Amino acid sequence: MIFVWGRKAVYTHAGYVADFCPVCRAARAFSVQRIGMAWHVYYVTVSKGELAGYQRTCCDCGMVLPMEVGHYSQLSAEQLPLVQLEQTTNPHLSIRHADALAAAARLREAPLLLDASERRRQVDSALRLQADALDEFEAATRLDREVWWSIAGAFAFCTLVLAALRQQAPENMDTGFIIAFFLSLGAVAWQLSQMGERFLRRAILPKLARSLAPLQPSVVELDEAFERMREQGRKLAKRVDSARVQEAITSLRA
Ligand SMILES: [Zn+2]
Repeated sequence: MIFVWGRKAVYTHAGYVADFCPVCRAARAFSVQRIGMAWHVYYVTVSKGELAGYQRTCCDCGMVLPMEVGHYSQLSAEQLPLVQLEQTTNPHLSIRHADALAAAARLREAPLLLDASERRRQVDSALRLQADALDEFEAATRLDREVWWSIAGAFAFCTLVLAALRQQAPENMDTGFIIAFFLSLGAVAWQLSQMGERFLRRAILPKLARSLAPLQPSVVELDEAFERMREQGRKLAKRVDSARVQEAITSLRA
């Protein structure tokens, strides 16, 4: 029997703050998660763990960003209306993010009037944000629900096959079980291999589309931006191309 234990990150809700969201390109409410490193046995933990930091998740688009708790006057226990949340938790938001807010306003009003270098900067920073999110996802070993379901399904399937063989054909129990086991293993391996693609589809592309949509980037602009990412060896450039981004932007408008 394999004994699985070690340390893993435990996320607990810690409150709300207002801050600038680079995906929504606006001030937004964020929920705050405390990150603790706790001992686990078979991935089950009993404590919040030793404090390792905090992260914030945009209540609008779901973008997860690192955060420094010291930057906020306090965390709010409730998700107050944005203006109130800003006053309570981050009164200097508009000063601190003056440049980003001004750029977002220019972009909303006349995206095609921005000069080429500013547009390039905006496209690059939107891609970089999601490239970082993809790297982080790949560095962690968190399984998504499809993988967990396939593991549960594999157990149930093997148990059922064993029970049926015991009753119907006990002489074939060994062979039957081996076949069922490898079929299950194959199903779990298939789900594992698709996990990255699911993350791209569910988390990366919608956010990329949301942050790029106001820019209305052309295929050429996107291709060039992906080329720059490729030169930097970023994984995102290998997994996504301009056609998929354009498709995601179109489905956002639908
Ligand atoms: Zn957002």
